[in-house]
Amino acid sequence: MAALNPAWLKRFSLTVLEFFLPRLCLFCGAGVGEAAAQAVCPECEARIDWVASPRCPICGLVFEARDGSDRLCGACQKEPPPFARARAAALYDPEGPVGQAIKRLKFNGQMAYLPLLQSWLHRPDCLELVADADLLAPVPLHPRRLKARGFNQAWLLAQGFKDKPLAREVLIRERFTVPQVGLNPKERRDNVKGAFGVPQPEAVKGKTILLIDDLFTTGATARECARVLRRAGAARVEVLTVARVKHE
Ligand SMILES: [Zn+2]
Ligand SMILES: [Zn+2]
Repeated sequence: MAALNPAWLKRFSLTVLEFFLPRLCLFCGAGVGEAAAQAVCPECEARIDWVASPRCPICGLVFEARDGSDRLCGACQKEPPPFARARAAALYDPEGPVGQAIKRLKFNGQMAYLPLLQSWLHRPDCLELVADADLLAPVPLHPRRLKARGFNQAWLLAQGFKDKPLAREVLIRERFTVPQVGLNPKERRDNVKGAFGVPQPEAVKGKTILLIDDLFTTGATARECARVLRRAGAARVEVLTVARVKHE
């Protein structure tokens, strides 16, 4: 008689359990039903502030006054950034579903949030940038940080787009930097200055590169990555993030 394979048995039991357990909202624990595309209930989804016009057509800043049409923000009028467009799916609310999903994936490695975050990047606004891109470039982590965290959340997010080439080594982090959290805008700019490199410029020459990351805060990282990519010969750089901080 063949002995039962414990690994197989464990996998089988888990599958059976998952079949019988109701699917729960990742934020409040309410049942979402088997047919739900994602593990978020309608109430929690309603708490998400999706990015909408009026906003700046370049940096994507969402204007606090909800009237009027899209227009250049003061910063982009004064000095256009090295990227052509930055877009995000939602506004960042640290305690809301978007903030929780980003933090739980990034700092606790809770992969259950990944399909949800990837699905938010498939909103029409975001897909427009993906369609225009030749190459997706996740914002890289320094090898030291990658080793400590075990994964790069930007890379995982970019893997949600199956039909676009993903560039693992096109943009690299050459210098270790302290986290941007808690730094003011000038400190953030100084912190990332010279942190990135493009080891094979021929891989980006003449191409439209779409940078992918979880969060757009002051844009210092995106600006520095775009500057380096443009200098290496990229024709156009755009930026896509799950979330961006609210109005200035
Ligand atoms: Zn919920
Ligand atoms: Zn702007």
